[in-house]
Amino acid sequence: MPEADAVVILGGGIIGFSIAYYLSQDPQYKGRIHIVDAADRLFESASGYAGGFLARDWFAEKAAPLGEFSFNLHRELANRYNGHERWGYLGSHVYSLSLNDAPAGVRGEDWLLAGTSRAQAAGCRREYGHVSRPGEAVNEDGTPAWMAPQTGASWNAIAGTDDCAQVEPRKLCEFLLSECEKRGVAIHLNTRATRLGKNTDGRLSVVELEATDRQSKPTFLPCSDIIISAGCWTPRVWATLFPTSAVEVKIDGLAGHSVIYRTPRYTKPFLNASYGPGEHSQSKDQHISYAIYCPPTKSWTYSPEAYARLDGDGKPEIWIGGLNDNSTDLPLPDLPTDAKKLINPARLAELRRAAVQLTGMTNPSGGVAEDDLEVVSEALCFRPVSQSGVPLSSRYRTERWVSVQQVFQVRRFG
Ligand SMILES: Cc1cc2nc3c(=O)[nH]c(=O)nc-3n(C[C@H](O)[C@H](O)[C@H](O)COP(=O)(O)OP(=O)(O)OC[C@H]3O[C@@H](n4cnc5c(N)ncnc54)[C@H](O)[C@@H]3O)c2cc1C
Repeated sequence: MPEADAVVILGGGIIGFSIAYYLSQDPQYKGRIHIVDAADRLFESASGYAGGFLARDWFAEKAAPLGEFSFNLHRELANRYNGHERWGYLGSHVYSLSLNDAPAGVRGEDWLLAGTSRAQAAGCRREYGHVSRPGEAVNEDGTPAWMAPQTGASWNAIAGTDDCAQVEPRKLCEFLLSECEKRGVAIHLNTRATRLGKNTDGRLSVVELEATDRQSKPTFLPCSDIIISAGCWTPRVWATLFPTSAVEVKIDGLAGHSVIYRTPRYTKPFLNASYGPGEHSQSKDQHISYAIYCPPTKSWTYSPEAYARLDGDGKPEIWIGGLNDNSTDLPLPDLPTDAKKLINPARLAELRRAAVQLTGMTNPSGGVAEDDLEVVSEALCFRPVSQSGVPLSSRYRTERWVSVQQVFQVRRFG
């Protein structure tokens, strides 16, 4: 295989590794795929710290086909490789905290740009009941006892395991990484692409790679294609490689704090023995996870979201986030590994307060729930958000953004 045919993927988050994973199934790419990442460790970005919630159809119209395609791919992958044990793949039963003053939901609304809860993007198409493990303690309203009863609000089940799911995102990324390594995908850490070179006929022929810490001399990798999948850093990579291009890549970094914790009440994942009314009784999921979405209330100005999920060892944990800071509050660092220095303890304390209110120990005297939670880890990461609100995928040659369905296709540019 001629060396000049290498395909170089810039950015080793879940997007870069998904592209490498699917591309490496095609024998014509055997030994030709390279992933280049600027950080010295993988998955220190959004891909490693995300909540890991998946929905089949909670998308704006333009992104809906890609959303459904992606949801089905997740399920297929989990069924094929025992994703349940390897990356905590579970169907998810979704609750929304309903308050009397919450605005009415609109299906398919872009919850991120609108700053609302995802619960409103889900809409509610049918009746979902409360579900809990047989024999598990439940609250008066039938919700599992690890969810704290709320004064002046109620828990509504708004979606179920057929259309929503959960993963432990870092474990999923590690699975993709191990499959890519088995298929000979080369991984270059602590490396950036600094320049592209072309043949005499104008085709891409080489990429110059430089160590991020600049401790070694640049090297040159002959290649025919490059793919930029650097999340929030994509505009910076673009500007470095195409400094004279009139195309502007409009992706911002939306910073999000998150906390992972355990509660003494949520100790076993729920075994799917009996679904509530309206649920699909034929589901193959052995266990389910839970998602909780909340609109802003008197207690918080943002939309907290909490996911009861399985950690890498199959132990239940709860991830809580949803408290976002835009890039003027928290500028995108040079590398995802620099994000730790930007963590704001006050933001983490706010999330912990929300965690206690949602899942703390019920106060026998009827007040706010008590804090008996054990924090496992805290994080800050940056979510790539396109200004159009839908994923961007294009090839440079046309100098135009094209359909998102082409996201896994690799094209040559001249
Ligand atoms: C708090 C939070 C919660 C989220 N929850 C969910 C959720 O529940 N469900 C969901 O579907 N999505 C969620 N997301 C969004 C999801 O995490 C991201 O959309 C996804 O991880 C983006 O993956 P990526 O590969 O595009 O980018 P990233 O994960 O950011 O990876 C980009 C990679 O590019 C590398 N890089 C940077 N500069 C360069 C360079 N010059 N050259 C080469 N490489 C470079 C970085 O080191 C990094 O490894 C969440 C995001 C956040 C922040």
